[in-house]
Amino acid sequence: MPTYKVAGEVDAFCTRCKLSLAHTIVAMVASKIARVRCNTCGGEHAFRTEDSSRRTAVPTTQRPARRTVLSFADRLAASNPAEATPYNPKLTYTLDQLISHPSFGLGIVTALRQDKMDVAFKAIEKTLIQGRGAPLDRPSFHPPQPNLEYPGDKPPSHRSTTDDSERK
Ligand SMILES: [Zn+2]
Repeated sequence: MPTYKVAGEVDAFCTRCKLSLAHTIVAMVASKIARVRCNTCGGEHAFRTEDSSRRTAVPTTQRPARRTVLSFADRLAASNPAEATPYNPKLTYTLDQLISHPSFGLGIVTALRQDKMDVAFKAIEKTLIQGRGAPLDRPSFHPPQPNLEYPGDKPPSHRSTTDDSERK
């Protein structure tokens, strides 16, 4: 069994990082560690191992369960494509909403989290942006979309300078 001392290092559960991380011992009571400082966030808190913190932690069963999309093909087949809402990153969508995407086709919203949503399309599941009415003021990740025409791209040039038909 290792012996600990103040200013020594110990692996402890950080209450702020929610992770088991290297901590520096700041106080000890007899041979037991009392307080530690997280080497990652600098937060000081009572010493606890990950095991002892799990007793008070929220049970994992309370985490939002991923929705199963077993009947997805059936639901998609039963749905009316005319009722699908065209996908627009500025709109806000609801769970189970039928949407149509220019690239991926018909899909059903399977999960929502802040400004993202998971959408199950026929063959793939994608994460799309939703509820972003305001212009983007921070960099965001755009998946490559080969079919998309970027505004910065030069339009195809038309030969118009020396066309005989334009002359009188
Ligand atoms: Zn920490």
